[in-house]
Amino acid sequence: MTTLLEVDSISVTFDGFKAINDLSLAIASTGLRAIIGPNGAGKTTFMDIVTGKTRPDRGRVLWGEGGMNLVGLSEARIARLGLGRKFQRPTVFEAQSVAENLDMALKNPRQPLRLLLARRTAADRVRVEAIAEEIGLRAHLTRRAGELSHGQKQWLEIGMLLAQDPKLLLVDEPAAGMTVAEREHTTDLLKRAARTRAVVVVEHDMEFVRRLDCRVTVLHEGRVLAEGSLDHVTADPNVIDVYLGR
Ligand code: ADP
Repeated sequence: MTTLLEVDSISVTFDGFKAINDLSLAIASTGLRAIIGPNGAGKTTFMDIVTGKTRPDRGRVLWGEGGMNLVGLSEARIARLGLGRKFQRPTVFEAQSVAENLDMALKNPRQPLRLLLARRTAADRVRVEAIAEEIGLRAHLTRRAGELSHGQKQWLEIGMLLAQDPKLLLVDEPAAGMTVAEREHTTDLLKRAARTRAVVVVEHDMEFVRRLDCRVTVLHEGRVLAEGSLDHVTADPNVIDVYLGR
């Protein structure tokens, strides 16, 4: 298994407080990984560093086979290298249809919407339908995104990221606010997406992490506290101490 992303000894200090403290971890080029940890563990800061939003004080973030260092690159540049980030709240174009949202994601987002939609090719249409199928919204292609349920909007946004064919998909609490059935669908969707790329899920909800059935990294005080299967990490006395506050 090849490594796609290697975070090497990164540290970040905010006002004298070490939010990330000599953190190292590696993500394989395919498959799912869950990153968990109590509030303030550094999960958001980790995502901000990897995506180029926050620059670490020290350490490297190495990408791909060539081990290119992402530190210092812009968020846009890192996104173009193939790193897609899904924030917690869905951000879809509410007034546009599901098909139009996916279509825009396939193309250069800087062009006016009117031009983008006019230039839809047969190949684009096939690809849009394939993605809609993959995210379970095939029957909703002509619906306005604003009319979708919370869960469906989240899937649409994941679909918009998949349209750009990222090498790594980074998702923040994808199942928050979802029904049980929606969670199940989200689990299947992420597992499918992870067959051909790396998918990293930052999550609070242990039940959801259990469903993902993947390798888990536990962060605490800006570093890796434990790593392995969920059963392995939740049996770790250090993890129990942190979660039960003993
Ligand atoms: P998590 O996402 O795991 O809850 P965060 O990455 O948001 O953790 O935060 C890690 C620590 O860094 C927290 O103690 C938080 O208060 C602190 N922190 C995060 N961002 C900033 C910032 N911009 N300025 C000051 N402190 C910050």
